[in-house]
Amino acid sequence: MIRNPAALERLLENIRDFVRTVAIPNEARVDHEHVIDEAIVDEMRRRGFFGWSIPEAFGGAGLTTEELCHANMEISQCTAAFRARAGTNTGIGSEAIIQMGTDVQKEHYLPRLASGEITGCLAVTEPDAGSDLLGGLRTTAQRDGDHWILNGTKRYITNAPLADVFTVLARSDPNNTGGSGTTAFLIERNTPGLSVGPEHRKMGQAGSPVSEVYFRDCRVPDSAILGGQPGRGFTAVMKSLNKQRINLASLCTGPAIRLLQEGLTHARQRQQSGRAIGEFQLVQAMLADCKVEIEAARALILDTARKRDDGEDVTMAVSMCKYYASEMAGRVADRIVQIFGGAGYCEDIGGSVPRLYRDVRLFRLYEGTSQIHQLNIAKLLLKGQ
Ligand SMILES: Cc1cc2nc3c(=O)[nH]c(=O)nc-3n(C[C@H](O)[C@H](O)[C@H](O)COP(=O)(O)OP(=O)(O)OC[C@H]3O[C@@H](n4cnc5c(N)ncnc54)[C@H](O)[C@@H]3O)c2cc1C
Repeated sequence: MIRNPAALERLLENIRDFVRTVAIPNEARVDHEHVIDEAIVDEMRRRGFFGWSIPEAFGGAGLTTEELCHANMEISQCTAAFRARAGTNTGIGSEAIIQMGTDVQKEHYLPRLASGEITGCLAVTEPDAGSDLLGGLRTTAQRDGDHWILNGTKRYITNAPLADVFTVLARSDPNNTGGSGTTAFLIERNTPGLSVGPEHRKMGQAGSPVSEVYFRDCRVPDSAILGGQPGRGFTAVMKSLNKQRINLASLCTGPAIRLLQEGLTHARQRQQSGRAIGEFQLVQAMLADCKVEIEAARALILDTARKRDDGEDVTMAVSMCKYYASEMAGRVADRIVQIFGGAGYCEDIGGSVPRLYRDVRLFRLYEGTSQIHQLNIAKLLLKGQ
């Protein structure tokens, strides 16, 4: 649903301007230095990038799902670190609060998340809890009067090195292995017993810090329970991830669009055997396959976003979007490296192409691996949906 086409176009132009004038000129440096300088983060705050999905009542832009997908397809046409910096605030670090937080929690956190004053993150994954996050969950929350004591380790948590508030999933009922035995807590960074590990050394997405988070007798009051009631943690996480999966699908589309542009430029300029390589039909086939797959992903994502905005059940469609778009981005990146030849493999010659190739590899792994989405789709199909 697009509420006001002119307002959306202004937002998209704002994002394009940022990508063109700020992000792309700085992305090689961010990749090299593994950090986005604070002046650029301030620029993102001024442009309102931290609050896209947060309701207007709390200082955000209150974008619909369709509007958010359009915005994501623009911001992801530069190195992934920029959108990841704001992406937990306008995604997994705020969504559970939006959907299930108490009024007090919303008032306390959402305006500051929307402005980018504070950074949020979602801490669910653990060393033994990946795809099977419920079965493998080891972090415990033990009641202690009107407080809870958390113990456990979270792994691969985006923006944990920067985060001010952590949405944490823990098992709060040791006798209940189901979702209703879990609770989500909002825990602030300076809480005794919470500590953050060193940054993981990642294959790509340099400048987007990800680390472990440790809870060692971390004591928090009842008021830290997301939504105020124990036993609803898994529901909160799944609601947050369902929205995030369509978000992520749209974030897979931007790099593919950018890569195809790079591939077209190279195909026009690079000469072999006295001709531009774009004149060779086998190169043309790769370009055509990229274009078809990008447009197929875009159409599927926007159709699903509209259905979600209309209140339809999009559980299977969201899995299709995330699965197809993340795999599509991988195939597009691979073809563009091929079109670049040796330059596509050498960071010093290939410009953004080798970096984007490494960046998009992550998409098939998080927010549900491709295999988990295949299983979801098949399960729902077999149930007759
Ligand atoms: C850079 C990065 C950032 C991340 N950010 C966050 C974050 O902010 N917050 C957070 O909580 N988590 C985050 N994650 C974690 C991410 O969501 C998990 O890595 C992902 O869910 C996969 O879990 P796993 O790595 O334990 O893999 P595993 O679950 O161990 O999977 C390994 C392989 O087995 C396959 N597999 C597993 N189970 C099945 C099955 N039942 N059927 C078929 N195949 C199966 C998988 O598809 C995969 O191929 C991040 C991860 C990375 C790498």
